[in-house]
Amino acid sequence: MDLYKLTIEQAAAKLKAKEITSVELTKSILDRIEKVDGQVKAFLFIDREGALAQAKEADKRLATEKDGPILLGVPVAVKDNICTKGVPTTCASKILNGFVPPYDATVIKALKGEGAVIVGKTNLDEFAMGSSTENSEKQVTGNPWDLKRVPGGSSGGSAASVAADEAIGAIGSDTGGSIRQPAAFCGVVGLKPTYGLVSRYGLVAFASSLDQIGPLTKNVTDAAIMLQAITGHDTSDSTSLEYQPPNYLDSLKKGIKGLKFGIPKELFGEGCQDEIRDSIQNMIKLIESLGGEVAETSLSTFEYALPAYYIIAPAEASSNLSRFDGVRYGHRAKDAEGMIDSYKKTRAEGFGSEVKRRIMLGTYALTAGYYDAYYGQAQKVRTLIIKDFTDAFEKFDLLISPTTPTTAFEIGAKTDDPLQMYLSDVCTIPSNLAGIPAISIPVGLAGGLPVGLQIMGKHFDESTILSAARALEKEVDFKITPELAG
Ligand code: GLN
Repeated sequence: MDLYKLTIEQAAAKLKAKEITSVELTKSILDRIEKVDGQVKAFLFIDREGALAQAKEADKRLATEKDGPILLGVPVAVKDNICTKGVPTTCASKILNGFVPPYDATVIKALKGEGAVIVGKTNLDEFAMGSSTENSEKQVTGNPWDLKRVPGGSSGGSAASVAADEAIGAIGSDTGGSIRQPAAFCGVVGLKPTYGLVSRYGLVAFASSLDQIGPLTKNVTDAAIMLQAITGHDTSDSTSLEYQPPNYLDSLKKGIKGLKFGIPKELFGEGCQDEIRDSIQNMIKLIESLGGEVAETSLSTFEYALPAYYIIAPAEASSNLSRFDGVRYGHRAKDAEGMIDSYKKTRAEGFGSEVKRRIMLGTYALTAGYYDAYYGQAQKVRTLIIKDFTDAFEKFDLLISPTTPTTAFEIGAKTDDPLQMYLSDVCTIPSNLAGIPAISIPVGLAGGLPVGLQIMGKHFDESTILSAARALEKEVDFKITPELAG
C-alpha cells in the first residue's frame, strides 16, 4: 500500500502496531511531494532534513511509549503564516523574505510535543488575504482535482496538500472562511474552531478578532484528533480561553438522531450553483433519514455580514501590518533616504496589491472623521449577527449551509474582480463574526468537482458539529480521488 494515502487514524494504528515506522511514512510523503508538487505547488518550503530527524525521534518514542499520542510519527503540513522555529515563515509575502522565526507558535509546540512530523510550509494568499491562493507572491497552487482551477484560499496550499496526499493532515487559519472554503474546493474536511479555543500565539495576525487556527484533514475523525492536539489555554494569547475541552474522539459516536438543524435561507439563495443546491438538498434528506429534524430559518442580518467583514478585517489588518516596516523583519528597501522614505519604499516594494488594497481600505475606515460611519457601524452589525445566531441556537442545535456558493473556479477567473472574489466567502464569514465553530465536509461532486457542506454550532460545541459531520460522512462515503500523474 502507498503509505502516503493513509489517514491519521490509520497511520497511527500502523505505527503503534509497528507495521511501519515514522521514517518510512515520512519518506513516503516526501517522495510523494517530490513527485506531484511540481504540478500542485502546494508547498513553499519542504523541510526534508528536519522532517526525517523528527521522524527518527518519533520512532524512538514509539519504541518506548506504550500509549503515546495519536499524532506521534504522523507527517503534517503547516500554513506559512504560522511561525516555525528555524524554518522560514513568509506569509507568501515578499516583505517577509528571509524571516526565520526564533520561536514556534503555540500550535506548533503542541504538534511537536505530540510527536507530529512537520514536513513543510504551505502556500497561501499573501497574509491570508484572499479566496484562491492566487494572491500569493510566490506561486499559484493548483486544485488537485483540476490543476487549471484554484484550490480556494487562503489556506489553499494546506487543503491541496491533503487532497493530493502530500500530507496526512494540515493546519490552516480562518479569518473569514480560509480553512472551510479551500477544504470545500479540494474535497477535504476543514474545521474552524470557536474563537479563543486554539491559541493564536505565533500566527501572523491578519484580523485579530476573527483569526482562528484549525485542521484540514482527510476525514472527520482526523479533524477531531488534530483539534484535540492543538486545543488548550495559552497565557501567551490574551484571547485564549480557559476551557477544558471534552474528548472529541468520544463525541464522534453520538450521531445525529434527535438533533435539530436549521437552514438559514440567506445562505442558500441567489448566486448558489444549482448542483450545489441539489447536493445540499440530498444532505437534508439524509439528515432526516438518520433521525434529525431540518427546518428553514431566516437570519436576516446575514446579508450585511460580508460588508461588515470587509470593514472590520481590513481595519484590523491595517493596524496589524504596520509592524512590517523594514526594520524588524524581512525585506528592507535598499536605496532609501532616511527613515520615512525607507518605510515607504519597503512597504511599496514588499506588499502585493491585495494587501495594499486592504491596508488602504482599513486605514480609511479608521480615519477620525469616518470611524463611526464605517468601523462603528460595522461593529453594530456584528452585534446583530451574534444576536441572530444566539436566537437561532435557541431553536436549533446546528445550522447548515453550502460552504461555498460555487465549486472551484478557474485560475484567473476572478482576479480582476475583487467583489466576485469576496463573494466566495459569503457563507463562511458570519461564523467568524460571531466566533462560533463551523466545519466543511465534502458531500459529493458537481461536474467532477467537490461540494462542501458547512455545519455551524454553538460556541464550544465542536463535539456536536463533529458527531453530526461524522454521521453524514459515514453515509456519504466521499472518496478523495483527484487524478494526478504521479
Ligand atoms: N477570503 C477572506 C478574505 O480575503 C477570508 C480570508 C481568511 O479567512 N483568512 O479576507
